[in-house]
Amino acid sequence: MIIHLDMDAFFASVEMRERPELADLPVVVGGSAAGRGVVAAASYEARKFGVFSAMPMAKALKQCPKLICLPVNMPLYIEVSQQIHEIFYRYTPEIEPLSLDEAFLDVTASEKLFGSAAEVAKKIKTDIKNECQLIASAGIAPNKFVAKIASDIDKPNGFVIVEQNEVQDFLDPLPIKRIWGVGKKTEQQLHEYGINTVYELRNKTSDWLIQRFGKLGDHIFRLANGQDKREVVSDAKAKSISSETTFATDIRDKEVLLAILSQLSEQVASRLRVKDVKGKTISIKIRFHDFKTITRSKTLFENSSQTMLIWQVVKQLFLDTWQEGKMSIRLVGVSVSGFSKSESLQSELFEQDTKQDTLDVLSDKINQRFGKAKIHRGRKNNG
Ligand SMILES: [Mg+2]
Repeated sequence: MIIHLDMDAFFASVEMRERPELADLPVVVGGSAAGRGVVAAASYEARKFGVFSAMPMAKALKQCPKLICLPVNMPLYIEVSQQIHEIFYRYTPEIEPLSLDEAFLDVTASEKLFGSAAEVAKKIKTDIKNECQLIASAGIAPNKFVAKIASDIDKPNGFVIVEQNEVQDFLDPLPIKRIWGVGKKTEQQLHEYGINTVYELRNKTSDWLIQRFGKLGDHIFRLANGQDKREVVSDAKAKSISSETTFATDIRDKEVLLAILSQLSEQVASRLRVKDVKGKTISIKIRFHDFKTITRSKTLFENSSQTMLIWQVVKQLFLDTWQEGKMSIRLVGVSVSGFSKSESLQSELFEQDTKQDTLDVLSDKINQRFGKAKIHRGRKNNG
């Protein structure tokens, strides 16, 4: 069985933990309204006012004038993320992180040691609550696709188990947009054929879907039937490390996108250093409002896991692609591949490099050790 764990309103919950006086208040984390910032995370209280992630802060304040807006404190969230991942690691090394606050765990091999997947998920939720004073939602299912939906469907504080023989009953009533790969355009096309639910989708034949949607048709047919063969790929086995963010609303603001890319660069670099590898090829992925997706890459002369270097390449790749006023973006991602073990590539050629390495190690250590991270390089926290 696969467990999908996802922290509830992560950034906002961490901030509220740091400031107990904010409990039960509408809180968001994000950029300032004056700087045309967007909401990065909203507490459940704020969501009651119709405030959601990726909404412009100015609009959020209109929706809820009492809204408490806090700046993004990424080093703190990375530190909490590492704590959470250490808890996961007690129960299995098969962890595939999707973002700072979300991961798949394959617990098949550790069930003898720690009990069923459901028991492990419960223990992890309890550990996170006791040690981090935060709430995670869990979905437990035979595959990734179903586990991810299961963790989301009963948020906050969700705990949903879907056994193999319950998969179809669980999926059937869901709207088709729940299926990975069904974006706005495909959803609309399916609606035009009178298909609104997973049940209605799987009652078509795969040939019928392939004729109309090509490869995607085959893909969504399998998922609708609860079939997902993808394995949990832990960072230890992965050939690349990536991090991406999908926005609830398309973003057209260059500065906001750069702020998000800088956070993603920091996450990826930090995971490279945890895995103790350096990568040679740095890529960005951009998905536009119409789901057209492009990637741009650059290969370095020498492998690296330095936050600053990775961020500089990411920034340049993005700026080379950016066309002001012409781009409306729904997803951005950063990935690093072409690994080598760190030791073999100690760069002594450039004093600058060594300094950056030291700074990264220091920053990782401080992030791990202290409640409030003191080091934050690069951009200001206004994303
Ligand atoms: Mg989350």
